[in-house]
Amino acid sequence: MNVKPAHGEENRLREQIVRYGRSLFDRGLTAGASGNISVRLDDGWLLTPTNACLGELDPGRLAKLDWAGRSISGDPPSKEAFLHRAMYEERDGAGAIVHLHSTHSAAVSCMSGLDHADCLPPLTAYFVMKIGRLPLVPYHRPGDPALGEAIRGLAGKHSAVLLANHGPVVSGTSLEAAVYAAEELEETAKLFLLLRGSPVSLLNQQQIDELKSVFNLSF
Ligand SMILES: [Zn+2]
Repeated sequence: MNVKPAHGEENRLREQIVRYGRSLFDRGLTAGASGNISVRLDDGWLLTPTNACLGELDPGRLAKLDWAGRSISGDPPSKEAFLHRAMYEERDGAGAIVHLHSTHSAAVSCMSGLDHADCLPPLTAYFVMKIGRLPLVPYHRPGDPALGEAIRGLAGKHSAVLLANHGPVVSGTSLEAAVYAAEELEETAKLFLLLRGSPVSLLNQQQIDELKSVFNLSF
């Protein structure tokens, strides 16, 4: 295989994936070999390898793929590559994607009676600003291509989705933005669970509209 040497920007992104992977793992946002991180490149995309622990990634062994999902270099990609591809294909502006099995988001994803169009309420301005409306993707078994199709149907309008009985898939313009949004989602899921059974005042429509107009949000 003819592989061009990675240039400076790609090397910077490889190091950034390793750094954020370790940080997410060390803070308990993903466990074992769960979760995966990807970044868009000029000539394809990088994805964390299959069965890799996010706390112990090697920048030189990240999977590099083309847009047909074929391997260009590195270790075999995560089996959840198709979740990332579905998101990138619908979102031109997505520069990176983070998928976690983070505890509180995963707990919410297992609850019954959620609004599938909007499964976490507007508890804080930061959740509205970083996530907006969060749709719930119906359960599919791991690796089921129908899950990619379900994400494709929602990703055009949503930068993040929650997979039922599984966890969140969050995109951002950069890896930093995707990680911060995934963390905001996790914190909001935690607040949502902490507040269950308590009277709660949510942001009202006027407050949400103000955020949308001041911060130019589209959802
Ligand atoms: Zn997963």
